[in-house]
Amino acid sequence: MDFSLTKEQRDIKRAAAEFAKKEFKPELAQAYELEHRFPREIYKKAAQLGFVGADYPERIGGGGMGILENVLVVEEFCKADSGIGMAIHLAYIPSKILKLFGTTLQQEQFLAPLVRGDWVSAVSFTEPDHGSDLTHMETSLEEKEDGFVLNGTKVFTTNASYADFFIILVQDQQDAAPGKGMTTIVVQRDSSTWLEGSMEINEIPNKMGLRMTSSGEVVFHNLKVPKGNLVGERGRGLLNVLDFLDESRIEIAAQALGNAEGAFIKALKHGRERTQFRKPIIDFQAVGHKLARMWSEIQSLKWLTYYAAWLCDTRTDTMSGALPLFTSMVKHHVPERAKKVIDETITIFGGYGYFLEQEVERRYRDNRIVEIYEGTVEVQLNNMVRILKKLNLDFIRSTLI
Ligand SMILES: Cc1cc2nc3c(=O)[nH]c(=O)nc-3n(C[C@H](O)[C@H](O)[C@H](O)COP(=O)(O)OP(=O)(O)OC[C@H]3O[C@@H](n4cnc5c(N)ncnc54)[C@H](O)[C@@H]3O)c2cc1C
Repeated sequence: MDFSLTKEQRDIKRAAAEFAKKEFKPELAQAYELEHRFPREIYKKAAQLGFVGADYPERIGGGGMGILENVLVVEEFCKADSGIGMAIHLAYIPSKILKLFGTTLQQEQFLAPLVRGDWVSAVSFTEPDHGSDLTHMETSLEEKEDGFVLNGTKVFTTNASYADFFIILVQDQQDAAPGKGMTTIVVQRDSSTWLEGSMEINEIPNKMGLRMTSSGEVVFHNLKVPKGNLVGERGRGLLNVLDFLDESRIEIAAQALGNAEGAFIKALKHGRERTQFRKPIIDFQAVGHKLARMWSEIQSLKWLTYYAAWLCDTRTDTMSGALPLFTSMVKHHVPERAKKVIDETITIFGGYGYFLEQEVERRYRDNRIVEIYEGTVEVQLNNMVRILKKLNLDFIRSTLI
């Protein structure tokens, strides 16, 4: 057993930490937060240094690395600043569907400008009446001689107001059984690529956190796009989404990991420096024990997340059926426990923790969404139960635990 990262992994982790330290200035972060602005300048610089699409093919300018390397970048970015870190990650993670299922041409067309930091991506699965339940979409796809026509409404699409392209989950066959007959298709923001119809984007304001991103409603009015926009096989849409989620949920968990680590560092510093009753508050057992427990928590979250990423990267036939058990495990467990760590940080900061200035209440607000998007905690637990019910007990006993 070897717990150490490779030299390449240590280098990328260190480089991401150094970049974040230099670029994610607290006053800049506060400005982005208060102005509800996407940190585009930092996103572009991050992309130019190879932090965007570390797992994308080298052929289109990606890093040719794995999920673990992406996790290390996301962890360091969110450790430095939850808002900037999450906004940067959410700008490129939707495009992963094209990494997995896009044609060479689509990868060149969409992923190359993305890894240069010129483009931002979005993904639209959720609809007003279909959130956790993605087994049927109201947004329809109709084939015409020269293209595909989309009609319907998506909600909560992150980056909607500035994304250059959207990956949409649509119902291709109306009478298909639940979970069947869906397709993924890419739609560009640039209206010159549309053949007919229109796409309307309405900002959904006043989010609890994640204020450096936009959230929008995306409405398709007989929008006709070229046939070449289909992503992957027709009718395999939900399976594409599930394969995407197997990778993306691990990286999303890394957001919460970094958020918790950044909070812990702040809590420890404050515990050592803040004095009351003529001694540092860390010397009060109630505070010291909190910090000790937070340390234990962070270590467990970190190694769980790295392990899930490593399993995903080194996927074997034997393990592939069990992978969602680990993906869903980190996607529910890491944000839930990270929330506790950040909450304790607010306690350690006392009244100062309640104000934006110290940046810990923002971490709490930003982190809260990690439990919800890409499948709620309850959905992750349901996934795990589904697999635990079926997996061979000997395999669980001998291989998984
Ligand atoms: C800030 C933000 C950004 C987002 N970004 C995107 C994005 O970019 N693209 C996108 O497509 N979507 C996005 N979403 C949508 C997000 O993925 C959904 O909100 C989420 O999947 C939950 O769906 P819902 O809100 O419809 O809740 P519902 O599905 O209505 O769930 C409500 C509650 O019921 C519970 N529940 C539902 N079904 C079950 C069940 N079977 N068993 C147990 N409990 C259950 C849920 O866990 C939850 O607690 C975003 C959401 C937010 C808030």
